[in-house]
Amino acid sequence: MSLCMPEPDAGVLARRAEIVAAMRAIVPGEGVIDHADGLRPYETDGLTAYRQPPLVVVLPETVAQVAAVLRWCRDHAVKVVPRGAGTSLSGGALPLADGVLLGMAKFNRILHVDYADRIAIVQPGVTNLAISRAVEDEGFYYAPDPSSQIACTIGGNVAENSGGVHCLKYGVTTNNVLGVELVTIDGEVLRLGGQGLESAGLDLLGLVVGSEGLLGVVTEVTVRILPRPETARALLIGFPELEGAGRCVGEVIAAGIIPAGMEMMDRAAIHAAEAFVNVGYPLDVEALLIVELDGPAAECAHLIEAVARIAEANGASSIRASSDDTERIAFWAGRKAAFPAAGRISPDYFCMDGTIPRRRLPDVLARMKLLSEQYGLGVINVFHAGDGNLHPMVLYDANVPGQLELAEAFGADILRLCVEVGGVLTGEHGVGVEKRDLMPAMFSAIDLAQQVELKHAFDPAALLNPGKVFPTLHRCAELGQMHVHGGKLPFPDLPRL
Ligand SMILES: Cc1cc2nc3c(=O)[nH]c(=O)nc-3n(C[C@H](O)[C@H](O)[C@H](O)COP(=O)(O)OP(=O)(O)OC[C@H]3O[C@@H](n4cnc5c(N)ncnc54)[C@H](O)[C@@H]3O)c2cc1C
Repeated sequence: MSLCMPEPDAGVLARRAEIVAAMRAIVPGEGVIDHADGLRPYETDGLTAYRQPPLVVVLPETVAQVAAVLRWCRDHAVKVVPRGAGTSLSGGALPLADGVLLGMAKFNRILHVDYADRIAIVQPGVTNLAISRAVEDEGFYYAPDPSSQIACTIGGNVAENSGGVHCLKYGVTTNNVLGVELVTIDGEVLRLGGQGLESAGLDLLGLVVGSEGLLGVVTEVTVRILPRPETARALLIGFPELEGAGRCVGEVIAAGIIPAGMEMMDRAAIHAAEAFVNVGYPLDVEALLIVELDGPAAECAHLIEAVARIAEANGASSIRASSDDTERIAFWAGRKAAFPAAGRISPDYFCMDGTIPRRRLPDVLARMKLLSEQYGLGVINVFHAGDGNLHPMVLYDANVPGQLELAEAFGADILRLCVEVGGVLTGEHGVGVEKRDLMPAMFSAIDLAQQVELKHAFDPAALLNPGKVFPTLHRCAELGQMHVHGGKLPFPDLPRL
């Protein structure tokens, strides 16, 4: 692999049999996997370019077992990588050769639902979609909806602060999680947040959401559930040029309309998706917007007209409004199939994830096109236009020598571009290993050192998910952000990851 991970600890590798036996003593039965064939399904996550079988897989069933595993690993200096469903696109759940992979799949129960308080208390291995399914008969749902929602777990969503199509109006994970139970590397069980919007003390819940498995292992999550909107309708709007589509997005928000979802696809994505699902997307346009409005029927009808007027004023060449739910779902079908559609036209792709100010959309897409020509690799764009969250898919063929490295460099340039125009490195997929070495493009050495200090307040020996999020030191130095003077590093007192 072209990725540089921390050198495995030879001492830990030599103690493998002892570590496996200790894990079996804590998690009896089939909860410990150490055979090579059994480890294979865990060797990668959604970022399949990188693979590494773990030292051992441990699948606990109780909080006491999680606490005991973590405490044992702390006492014996063994690293731990938490894992949900392994759909991370940033390599957050990539195993370590000398680390325990702590799979949370057996924590799969919905513990309690309270419709009066509009909350559900669930275990972290429950899939995102299963929460909505559990409350749908009462007319409720869980709003954040990653495209991977059929598979990804709420524990992974918390760790990545995941988003989705409907997060423009309803917020991402952090806006929909009220409390968590977290087990620290010391085996201490913490309760952060609660069942209401406010809780006492510092906002440690806010710190844990999006912490990518670096601070502790989430063993319970309290989420908000919402009543399903009375009506939902969608508009399918084609534009002859990207600029008009970009302006339309900004003007809709400026008009005070917050659509339930506002997604954009570029020409390449439209063609790939239409060839895959045949839902009647216009093929003579440069950009397609799918705008969903929800609420009472009269409000929806009013908003549909208002958005259509804004689209017309920005040069839309085709506008279709869904008349029923079947048509609305058909409008979304191509967008939702964008990943498999990309897989159909390219053997491999990297799905990038950066966020930019909405007004910079046309400019960034134009520059991405130039980069695509420069690198000789295709790129297709589907993205959460409403919140400026881009998901360029860089197309490559891993079987062609050098193309993986070229795709990595192209992807890195796209993310640097996002930062350059005032955006950020990630919108919803997290940093993981994918964007780790780009962190100095956004944070100074002091910023990074402070983040590391925060991590060490929870995990002083850096045993939880090391090698993720924080750049390796040589990369910091290469990128000019870590000034090494006379052989002396800044902040020499800080432990290095
Ligand atoms: C086809 C596809 C579409 C996707 N679409 C979206 C999308 O629309 N929006 C979006 O935001 N993401 C999307 N993703 C990315 C991914 O699904 C999310 O990041 C998801 O939240 C990961 O959940 P998981 O259960 O698979 O976690 P994993 O991949 O197993 O782990 C992700 C991270 O969470 C940590 N972690 C997992 N469980 C715990 C726990 N219990 N305690 C502490 N840390 C934990 C891991 O250490 C790792 O750092 C997509 C992925 C795919 C493959």
